[in-house]
Amino acid sequence: MLNEKVALITGSTSGIGLATAHVLAAQGINLVLHGLMSASQGQELADSFKAQYGISVLFDNADLSDVARIEHLIKRAIEQMGSIDILINNAGIQHTESAENFPLDKWNAIIAINLSAAFHAIQYALPNMKSNGWGRIINVASVHGLVGSVNKSAYCAAKHGLVGLTKVLALECAEQGVTVNAICPGWVDTPLINDQISAIAKQQNIAFEQAKYQLVTAKQPLPEMMAPEQIGEFILFLCSESARSITGSALPMDGAWTAQ
Ligand code: NAD
Repeated sequence: MLNEKVALITGSTSGIGLATAHVLAAQGINLVLHGLMSASQGQELADSFKAQYGISVLFDNADLSDVARIEHLIKRAIEQMGSIDILINNAGIQHTESAENFPLDKWNAIIAINLSAAFHAIQYALPNMKSNGWGRIINVASVHGLVGSVNKSAYCAAKHGLVGLTKVLALECAEQGVTVNAICPGWVDTPLINDQISAIAKQQNIAFEQAKYQLVTAKQPLPEMMAPEQIGEFILFLCSESARSITGSALPMDGAWTAQ
């Protein structure tokens, strides 16, 4: 039933977004790939998906801190692919620093990319979903949309905001066949967290892998990082008809982090 639908995944040139793109493509879902890479690299990525899965693929490298580029991305995707049936707001960045020393430009960038971009993308994509009478919006939040951690003021503010946005949109779309959910992962093995691991390795003069284990086990009872594909499989389930009553939820996938 998902065959032939179109999914736009922001930040799908790396990590969770890229793994999710492979999971959806394997089901015959057409893709709008997106992320910060050159147009020619993006075209190569799109071509590799087309060859591997026989689906239609568009690539766009809109910088999500620019609202006009988000509007253009959504309009271009609908024009060239016919619709956006599934919108996965996944792109995100991180910076860690105490609140009192947090650089203003980093605060503004995290709020813009991790929170406001999702709002703008939803606002531009929603009329198309409503007129189709079907849609899936999945916001990739974090455990940090549910609980706090030191040195993550901007990230936690943005992710908590994304969870709030998810609830409101679910209420506004409940009668239109459009579900809206947030996924709240614990540690996922992607480039996003490498700086945090490197900082621990440097501070304690230990190997990268040892630092990685320390970072994971500091708060997450399940002592292993999740693979990005696991998040992709969870997203695929939320796109299915079986999940049509799941809406307005902030769903942890966090190795019992928030069970404590
Ligand atoms: P990643 O660094 O591997 O990928 C981030 C993606 O976002 C890339 O495709 C990048 O090009 C894109 N991006 C970054 N800035 C952008 C901008 N200004 N404009 C457009 N695109 C931009 O990271 P990831 O770990 O795969 O993260 C994906 C999402 O998952 C993020 O929202 C992150 O907060 C969330 N998350 C990650 C973890 C984790 O442990 N890795 C845990 C919970 C939640």
